[in-house]
Amino acid sequence: MAKKYPEETRMYKEKAFLVGVSVFNDKSWLSIEDSLAELELLAQTAGLDVVGEISQTLSKPNAQTFIGSGKVEEVQLLVNETKADVLIFDNELIPRHQRELEKIFGENVRVLDRTALILDIFAQHASTREGILQVELAQYEYRLPRLTRAWTHLARQAGGGGGRSGSVGGVGLRGPGETQLEVDRREIRKKITTLRTELEKVRAHRSRHRENRKRSQIPTVALVGYTNAGKSTLLNKLANSEVFVANQLFATLDPTTRRVELPEGNTALFTDTVGFIQKLPTQLVAAFRATLEEITEADILLHVVDISHPNALAQWESVNATLEEIGAEDLPIITVLNKIDKIQDQEIIRELNNAFSNAVSISALSGEGIRSLLKKIEEELYFNLIPITVFLPYKQGRLISVFHETGKIDELKNLADGVYIDGSIPGRFFSEFEPFFHSSEPNELLETTGDDLDGTDF
Ligand code: GDP
Ligand code: MG
Repeated sequence: MAKKYPEETRMYKEKAFLVGVSVFNDKSWLSIEDSLAELELLAQTAGLDVVGEISQTLSKPNAQTFIGSGKVEEVQLLVNETKADVLIFDNELIPRHQRELEKIFGENVRVLDRTALILDIFAQHASTREGILQVELAQYEYRLPRLTRAWTHLARQAGGGGGRSGSVGGVGLRGPGETQLEVDRREIRKKITTLRTELEKVRAHRSRHRENRKRSQIPTVALVGYTNAGKSTLLNKLANSEVFVANQLFATLDPTTRRVELPEGNTALFTDTVGFIQKLPTQLVAAFRATLEEITEADILLHVVDISHPNALAQWESVNATLEEIGAEDLPIITVLNKIDKIQDQEIIRELNNAFSNAVSISALSGEGIRSLLKKIEEELYFNLIPITVFLPYKQGRLISVFHETGKIDELKNLADGVYIDGSIPGRFFSEFEPFFHSSEPNELLETTGDDLDGTDF
């Protein structure tokens, strides 16, 4: 089945035609219609005007053209009819498919896939130095094996839907016996090397900053969730900040951090993260690993779910899968059921609330439920103490003061080499204290200094 949309009046927008293929046995949880709807939103986010779409179910992709040859002809007709400039495949095309399709559709139609489109959107929205470098690197790595035409074409591709990054500056000089294509490949490889080096420098700088943050002992809360779930809206509401909120995918790419005061006066740093999306290509997950990994350094995760969305549960599962992939699955999670203002039936909200082990239902838009959410966060971060017994050598001065400042001390003994403490600490420090756990009585450790202090006058 093919759909055509009425021609747009704004002529300056590039026209995109979408192709969705459902491959038999594909594990995708999205129906082909939902997946195409998401692709349409992606295309619009990239600044394209979607003029039509078509889909096909295949037992396996065609070796040459991905879609079947009959389908290719059908798409050619529709592309001509709709005057589409860009043909976007919902599935990832291997370089060979890309080359064959480019041959068939000729100079005037660009062939892209979901990955290229997402890269383009990332390029448009990257704001920090690291984000921009990451996208540029990912774009070049993606293009290298797909390079079939010379600079002109490449520059056009880099332009995408108006993306600012990625265009290769200058034309490389051709060496003896080299084809233009070889020159182009060589230039891209050089560019990739330079970008990697620059990225390393930026990362080293960032990790130094992170160290500082850890020392300040202010806990961090990371907002995660499927794209469009309402993360930025929530952060806005919490911090009265100016985080960019938009009904677009990937409106915020780089983490934005805000300091928020909790009900009992404690504070926490809240970090907005890039949205998760189904079919986020693995190379993108790799490219954005640094950004995603910031999530694992949080003390607690808020998993924001748009419960008014028909695919809410599947989105929730897909985010969990990515969290597992980056090793964040063991962090404490509060499930934030968002957009309750869109749900009439209060019974549904109650049921959902009970279905998750640690959930709060809110409306980030109206502010309903946000106070209970903040209370829960404060409880998790500051009041839920875990009992531990440790022996801390004196050179662990930082941990000793963390215990005094954030924990509760039942028994403390100063020994020759360190201090024995029996008490409880907030869960977020658990792993830091773990190497110093002790089960035996202090007397069995070492000779005591005779001082028997309690924590208050340490
Ligand atoms: P993000 O991608 O998770 O950061 O999502 P955004 O915060 O950008 O929100 C996506 C869209 O959902 C925007 O149009 C918001 O106005 C809307 N939205 C967010 N929270 C709510 C809510 O509680 N209720 C309603 N009705 N809309 C919301
Ligand atoms: Mg956002």
